Amino acid sequence: MKDKIQKSEQEWKQELTPEQFHICREKGTERPFTGEYNDTKDKGVYKCVACGNALFDSSTKFDSGTGWPSFYQPMDPESVATESDRSYGMARTEVKCSSCGAHLGHVFPDGPRPTGMRYCINSVSLKLDKK
Ligand SMILES: [Zn+2]
Repeated sequence: MKDKIQKSEQEWKQELTPEQFHICREKGTERPFTGEYNDTKDKGVYKCVACGNALFDSSTKFDSGTGWPSFYQPMDPESVATESDRSYGMARTEVKCSSCGAHLGHVFPDGPRPTGMRYCINSVSLKLDKK
């Protein structure tokens, strides 16, 4: 297991932009079809914007039509952590960066093969490291 990054909310507030802080630390959601990576087809590795942890490979990105970048699997099963989220009266599964705990988005069991999973991720949480 990688070392976990522990920072106070105050430290995160200084390091992240207000938008990044809102999504990553306050579990916000960017408006659909507005994110930087919604339509991106560039090859590379999507990393956590807060800590640089490698999260998703561009080869697993697919066009879900939802307005958010969507992936059918993480780079590595340990790249992300999941947690049950019952906010807003919905039963969803939250996806977080396993290294720093940043909120990334949610995962739904309606994705394409081979996994059948759809990781619905905020562009704001991601930084594409192009190949
Ligand atoms: Zn992170």
